[in-house]
Amino acid sequence: MTRNDDSPIARQDPEIWKAFVAEEERQRNTLELIASENHVSPAVLQAAGSIFTNKYAEGYPGRRYYGGCENMDIVESIAIDRAKQLFGCDHANVQPSSGSQANQAVLLAAMLPGSRFAEAEQREKNPDQPVRTPGDMILSLHLDHGGHLSHGKNVNISGKWFRVTHYGVERETGRINMDEVARLARDCKPKMIITGASAYSRTWEWDKFAEIAQEVGALLMADIAHIAGLVATGLHPSPVPVCDFVTTTTHKTLRGPRGGLTMCKADWQKKIDSAVFPGMQGGPLMHIVAAKAVAFGEALKPEFKKYQQRVIENAKTLAESLVSRKLNIVSGGTDNHLMLVDLRDGFPTVSGAMAEDWLGKAGIVVNKNMIPFDERKPMETSGLRLGTPALTTRGMGIDEMRKVADLIVRVLGSEGDAKVAESVKAEVHGMCEQFKLPHA
Ligand code: PLP
Repeated sequence: MTRNDDSPIARQDPEIWKAFVAEEERQRNTLELIASENHVSPAVLQAAGSIFTNKYAEGYPGRRYYGGCENMDIVESIAIDRAKQLFGCDHANVQPSSGSQANQAVLLAAMLPGSRFAEAEQREKNPDQPVRTPGDMILSLHLDHGGHLSHGKNVNISGKWFRVTHYGVERETGRINMDEVARLARDCKPKMIITGASAYSRTWEWDKFAEIAQEVGALLMADIAHIAGLVATGLHPSPVPVCDFVTTTTHKTLRGPRGGLTMCKADWQKKIDSAVFPGMQGGPLMHIVAAKAVAFGEALKPEFKKYQQRVIENAKTLAESLVSRKLNIVSGGTDNHLMLVDLRDGFPTVSGAMAEDWLGKAGIVVNKNMIPFDERKPMETSGLRLGTPALTTRGMGIDEMRKVADLIVRVLGSEGDAKVAESVKAEVHGMCEQFKLPHA
């Protein structure tokens, strides 16, 4: 939606309208380098703000608990079909409202038996089949090494339900060492191995994870929230053939509305569907399901692959340009859309929090991030996570990435000087004028 001072919100609710206008301006006039964000197309935006929000549609296409769902069935069936086509999975549930819920659905379906009775019954009927219960072991990437809260952090429901062992990245290479993952798996005997990350810039070796999972008798899940767009277009290997479950958010490289998606092998379809509804959610957000359908339709077009290729190219250029300006990137570079900048060498007195603040004042939006083996606290950090999906959506390319690297280093080198921030902000503004938002 473009700004219209005669819109219903403007007329009815000036306080919210003021924030709306400010946010529209903020997005238009800043460089968005948060790796998990993007700018959706006008069509996705229209679907997300549409009349589909009015409708209850508990259940699934053809099996609803409410009348009047005929159009919901059309929308949700199209979303499911397109997700299956995009990722080549047996089954897709498009209802999870977020990536965290997409992950929770897997844990609920696969790791929690129906009840204590169901557990006893399963043991009796099928003594060779493992019974998975709360308190079982999960093996996943450490949050401080790029993992996600919903992969077993103690403050998250995943960490409250299960015991967790973490693999991490090597101190020297910044990469996951698969021999170490195998050693940990043999040691802790997990019932599930979770792969995928929020801040890991290297290619995932799904085949090796699958071998390890098979050896120790664990289920395997890949959370491709960050790299879904790359996976959908074949620019990152797909985990779908070798994983029992694949989850994702729909709003990062995939460039859809905020939301989640849970995919699985055919055997798990019924359990996944009943874990999402009625297990975790009531009525699905049908306006978001509609927006997912539109976004998946966009992702199936050839232009989307070209977009993802440019996302990767831009990330590589940005990483190289930062390295040539004396900044360290964890693991030395990137294979995907993001990078973790280690500030300690180039700017040892600057924390991630300071950098986030200074860059924000100059119109460059980033997030502070722990780097592996960080000695600073999570609210301070020694790192920044940068990603190129949003800038690439605006049409920026290699020249702009070099310029962005330059602007970042100017701000960091200025120690937060207000005059430098102002002059960088003016340059940022010029770039934003040239490369418009998709809905502008
Ligand atoms: N999984 C990964 C790897 C993520 O990076 C994120 C979010 O950043 C999520 C799951 C959770 O998504 P949401 O914020 O929609 O719950």
